[in-house]
Amino acid sequence: MDALFPTYARWDLTVESAEGAIIVDNTGKKYLDFVSGIAVCNLGHRHPDVVRAVEEQLKKYWHVSNLFKSDIQQEVAEKLVTNSDLDAVFFCNSGAEANEAALKLARKYTQKSKIITFKQSFHGRTLGTMAATGQEKIHSGFGPLLQEFVYLPYNDCEALEQAMDDSVAAVMVEVVQGEGGVIPGTEEFLKKIEELCSLHGSLFIIDEVQTGIGRTGKAFAHQHFNLSPDIITLAKGLGNGLPVGAMLGKEKLKEAFGPGSHGSTFGGNPISLAAAKATLAIIFQEEFLAEVEEKGAYLKAELSNALANHDLIEGVRGSGLLLGIACKEEVAAPITALRENGLLTLPAGPNVIRLLPPLTVTYEQIDEAVKLIKETLVAEFIR
Ligand SMILES: *Cc1c(COP(=O)(O)O)cnc(C)c1O
Repeated sequence: MDALFPTYARWDLTVESAEGAIIVDNTGKKYLDFVSGIAVCNLGHRHPDVVRAVEEQLKKYWHVSNLFKSDIQQEVAEKLVTNSDLDAVFFCNSGAEANEAALKLARKYTQKSKIITFKQSFHGRTLGTMAATGQEKIHSGFGPLLQEFVYLPYNDCEALEQAMDDSVAAVMVEVVQGEGGVIPGTEEFLKKIEELCSLHGSLFIIDEVQTGIGRTGKAFAHQHFNLSPDIITLAKGLGNGLPVGAMLGKEKLKEAFGPGSHGSTFGGNPISLAAAKATLAIIFQEEFLAEVEEKGAYLKAELSNALANHDLIEGVRGSGLLLGIACKEEVAAPITALRENGLLTLPAGPNVIRLLPPLTVTYEQIDEAVKLIKETLVAEFIR
């Protein structure tokens, strides 16, 4: 470990193997995984269809560059646009890169540079997406920041009305703020962004890096509200564990991203895209998505019940299988205790325990998790 930069506060856990919703560590201890690689392994670890697709691609070819035509990129792009209101796809390798592409495209298409984002948002760690992120702790020490971002309070329609004018290139927003505390955007707020963007010639960009690919029970979270963004960005769940990101945009934007305007050596790598193709073939089925919504509602209701009389718990919120237990105290210690008791969870902000089970989680596993959470939180918070 000493030869690594200490950029991550790592857990005391080394994985030996993983399958479905179960992780086994190097001592043989089993964990129920409600992290899913941070909303990445949405079909669980090593889903057989994804394994098969990747193995087949490994035997064909690995990498040739984007100077070649690519059937697999065309197929995955087709699948993404037919399941959304968008028309064109640019492939990259991560969420930050997808957002970088969106920010560059917004500048080029609108010829404007002011971008509105929101407090507690998270959009990535590159210079551009770090500046887009509305959290001081993420900017700290890395200034001067890229110009010019304006951070508004989330879910505040009035602040938005006041800030919007024709100088705004784009508004970038998460439908549910993930890292920022599992905070769902209101329908009124999200619709107001769409309306004001269209009024002022600004692009409406939705960061679906965490909420996309079935996580909330729709292919993309903005589909809960019938929104029609100009751009959406994807990554995390797209390759079920292989690195791939994507920016999807409307037809009118194609002209601004012509040959030579933007690119990525590894973007749309065929092995990652083989994984994406197999992943989307399962997740974008109506019955699969309906089940995610049902399981999410069940987990939320069971948790709310189990924690109802707990003084230090504010409530359970979120959408689909992106849920947060909002607490009145810091959650670092309870999350460590949950891990020791066999359940892997994540923080979101200082006071929220975030749950991101694989979308293939069983009802039995959900019941087991609720039981562990109830027992652990009662013991942890009432010391
Ligand atoms: C994780 C995340 C990102 C950054 O993705 P990386 O792949 O880590 O660059 C951007 N936006 C949101 C909403 C995220 O959750």
